[in-house]
Amino acid sequence: MHKIINSPASAVDDYVNALAARTPSLARVAGWNVLARAGSDPAQLREVAVISGGGSGHEPAHAGYVGEGMLHAAVLGEVFTSPSADAVHAAIKATAGRAGALLVVKNYTGDKLNFGIAAEMAKADGIPVETVLVGDDVALPGETRVGPRGIAGTVLVHKIAGAASARGMNLAETAEAASAFARKLGSMGVATGPCTLPGALRPSFDLPQGEIEWGLGIHGEPGRERGSAHSAKGIATRLVGHVVEQKAIPPGAAVVVLVNGLGATTALELEIVGAEVQSALNEHRIHPVRMWTGSYLTALDMAGVSVSLAQVTDDELELLDAPASTVAWRAAPRLDPGMSRTSLVIADAGPDNDDGRNRRAEDLSVAITAVTAAAEAVIAAEPALTDLDRAIGDGDLGTNLARGAQRILAAVGTLSRLGSHQLLLRELAALLRRHVGGTSGPLYSLLALGAAEELARADPSPGTWARAFAAGTSAVRRVGGAEVGDRTMVDALAPAAETLCEALDDGRPAEAAVRLALSAAEAGARATEQMHAGLGRSSYLGERVAGHPDPGAVAVVVWLRAVATCLYGDN
Ligand code: ADP
Ligand code: MG
Repeated sequence: MHKIINSPASAVDDYVNALAARTPSLARVAGWNVLARAGSDPAQLREVAVISGGGSGHEPAHAGYVGEGMLHAAVLGEVFTSPSADAVHAAIKATAGRAGALLVVKNYTGDKLNFGIAAEMAKADGIPVETVLVGDDVALPGETRVGPRGIAGTVLVHKIAGAASARGMNLAETAEAASAFARKLGSMGVATGPCTLPGALRPSFDLPQGEIEWGLGIHGEPGRERGSAHSAKGIATRLVGHVVEQKAIPPGAAVVVLVNGLGATTALELEIVGAEVQSALNEHRIHPVRMWTGSYLTALDMAGVSVSLAQVTDDELELLDAPASTVAWRAAPRLDPGMSRTSLVIADAGPDNDDGRNRRAEDLSVAITAVTAAAEAVIAAEPALTDLDRAIGDGDLGTNLARGAQRILAAVGTLSRLGSHQLLLRELAALLRRHVGGTSGPLYSLLALGAAEELARADPSPGTWARAFAAGTSAVRRVGGAEVGDRTMVDALAPAAETLCEALDDGRPAEAAVRLALSAAEAGARATEQMHAGLGRSSYLGERVAGHPDPGAVAVVVWLRAVATCLYGDN
């Protein structure tokens, strides 16, 4: 609930200053919470000044839409509070020239009053003023005396009006373009969580887990009806169905769509809702020709989404597509039926080419048995590795490695037919890279790739394998940047590789060398218990990692021990 502001009382003021300070094309109208295009000069302005605004808390509306091609000024009230008539008047005086001003007003009593009074004040000054009232909310049933509220669809009216003015339409034409569009516009939303006003101790309403409010307002008010939560599809279907019915949008119509987040709804959710809105429209045989998804007009940190639809003419589409340079408006891509479901397919080059070595088929049976044993051991160790990673990381290491191991086991048939150790390791690298993920996936794939390169140089003898292991370990160090002592898998890998090479160089038999290497890995993994974490996720935990071994290092011991046992039996 905590808001990152300096004080509730200064929040709107601070916002106006902040936006003006970071945006060269915006300027504050001195003395007022009004943002106008920088350099606005009523004496110079030939086009109609398009002005909107209302309570704050709807960011990026309305100030985010001030700029070439859209609004000339935005008037900001306190949070969810209409601005004063004087503030609106100041915005008109600061921008409107002889062509006059068009006020785009959301239908709320306070806004209607204050913008209405300001219009009268401006007319008394000799400035022609027209007003377009937006009431796009179709959630509330029947005719009410106050009429429908203005919600997110208003942003599209801003765009239409701004583009009409930029095109040079006069005041009456601009007002007519905006109101004709506004009349066709219908919106309905659903709230999945309330909002909290800056400084307030409680959220605007209580919504029990698993319930949602249909027909939200944008001022933290609950909706028209509470119901149980639905999937994105369920929500999109009902919102679309209701708007289509209320605005009597006929089959075959071309519509524009705004899928608007209320402030706390993620871009991930909005895109999913957007796709479901498209399929719902499909069911009605209505054609979406443009769709905007994003948080365009919010209610502070309310969670939820609204869907706005308007049947459009080609001329209106041109106005919506016209360029606008503002902080928050983004052009929508053209939706062509038939092009939406395409995907890019990468031509499959088949297994990696080898360097010609595999023309002479090598016997892979021992390597395959060792790889199988290693994979099985990693799968068996999944719960233990998960617990270790949960204590000091994000808990995914066991699952990630086990997933890679399963893939390797599933591919054993193919792997055994590869014909060379180099190809086998390259293929293992590809499997690890694609299926393990996290940090260890790419690092393990480097280990295998580094080793594969070394194996390409010589016949696979114990010495070649030792150099291959060392080369793979070097690749992990080089790319991952970890050295011994950094509390990573390198603490097990590096001593094992080094010991293996040294023992063989000293003339020890392969079995003894492998067992020594395993002991070195075990000692290295154990030593991580006492290390500070320099790299990886556990580096965020500081002293809290003490006493736990690094899970990545422990995993190295797991598969290395399995390989040793498979080659030479239990010790
Ligand atoms: P993530 O932290 O991305 O979830 P994983 O869970 O796949 O990564 O792997 C965690 C392990 O990765 C750690 O226990 C550590 O051994 C290893 N690790 C992290 N960073 C590095 C690095 N820079 N070099 C080598 N190993 C690392
Ligand atoms: Mg992890």
